[in-house]
Amino acid sequence: MIEHIDRKIRNNERINTEEAAWLYRCADLNQLRTWAGIARSRYHKSNRATYLIMRIVNYTNVCVARCDYCAFYRLPNSPEGYVLSREQIFEKMDEIMTLGGDFVGFNGGFNPKLGINWYCELFRDIRKKYGERIEFYGLTVAELMYVAKKAKISYYEAAATLKKAGNHWITGGGAEVLTNAFRKRHSPQKYTADDFMDAQKQIIEAGVQTTGTMVIGFDESIEERLEHLSRVRALQDETHGGLFSFLCWSYKPDHTVLGGEELAREDYWRHLAVSRIFLDNVKHIRTSVLTQNEHALTGLHYGADDFDIPFEDEVTQMAGAVINRDLGAVIRQCRSEGFEPVFRKTARDSQADFHQRVV
Ligand code: SF4
Repeated sequence: MIEHIDRKIRNNERINTEEAAWLYRCADLNQLRTWAGIARSRYHKSNRATYLIMRIVNYTNVCVARCDYCAFYRLPNSPEGYVLSREQIFEKMDEIMTLGGDFVGFNGGFNPKLGINWYCELFRDIRKKYGERIEFYGLTVAELMYVAKKAKISYYEAAATLKKAGNHWITGGGAEVLTNAFRKRHSPQKYTADDFMDAQKQIIEAGVQTTGTMVIGFDESIEERLEHLSRVRALQDETHGGLFSFLCWSYKPDHTVLGGEELAREDYWRHLAVSRIFLDNVKHIRTSVLTQNEHALTGLHYGADDFDIPFEDEVTQMAGAVINRDLGAVIRQCRSEGFEPVFRKTARDSQADFHQRVV
C-alpha cells in the first residue's frame, strides 16, 4: 500500500476512501507529513503560510438546538441568555481593527427572536459604518438554515437577501461531522447532513462566498470522517471550487453534556494531513490555533497553509479553549516552525483563487 499511495500522490492522482482509511489507521506520521507536504506544494510555496487576525462575535447565546457537545447555548427565557446590542458589536469590531485585524465572524445560536430582518439590518448598519474596511462571516450555514426555515424561504433566497444587505460570506460552521447518523446522535435539531449540503450548494449558487469546516474528536468513526471529507470533495467538484477553504478544529469537552477527552495533537495532525491529501480540489487547508494553540502551527508541516490568529470565541472558550492574546507570540511560533507568515486580505474572489496554482 505504501508504494501504491506514494505513486498516486507523486503523480497527483486522487486517492479513494479505502486508501484514505489506510492513511488514518496505518500510515507512519512522518510519512504522512511528507505526503501532505507534496500535496500542499501543488498550491503553495513550501516555506510560506498566510494568516488572518480575527475574532468571533457571539451576538447571541440563545439557542433551541440543544447539541450535546455545546457548552455555550442558553435556552430562551434563561436569565443568562443575551443578544448583543449594536454598540457592543461595534465595540468588538473596533477593538479587532485597532489590533490590526480586518475580520470578524458572527456566530450565535438558533434564537427564535431573531428573524432574517434582524440580520439584514445588522449587516446594512455594518456596511454603513465601516464600508469595506472590515470583512465578516455573516452567519454559519447552520444559522442560515434556521433563519431560512423560520422565514419559510429557500436557502438560496435567504442567502441572496443577506447578500443584498451587504453580507459577502457565510462560513461552513455548524458542520461538525457531516453524516446523518452523527447528527442524529448529537444534534438532531441541527438538520441532517444531506440538508446541510443542499443549503451550502444553494448559498454558492446565490453568489455568496463560503467555506468548508469540520470538527473532530467526539465519538465519530474513521468512516464518518471520510464520509464528511467525501461530501466536501464532491461539493467542491460540483461547484468548481465553490468552497474557498477547509478548516477543521477539535472538540473541546469542558462543561458539555457529551463530555469526553480532548483529541491528541498527533491525531489532529494526522487528520490535517489526510484532509490535505484527500481534498485535492481545495486550495486552502486551514489549521486551528483556536483549539490547538501552538500545535496548530506544527500543523503547517501536515498540509495546512493558512490560520487565524483568534482574539475571542465564546463558544470554544466556554468548552475549554484558551486563547493566547499575544498575537506576536503566534507569529513567532509560525516563524520558529520555518514558515514565513503573510497577512492576507479576506475579500477576494474564491473562484479565481481556486484555479491559481503555484506549480
Ligand atoms: S452548537 Fe450551535 S446550534 Fe448547537 S446548541 Fe450550540 S449554539 Fe446551538
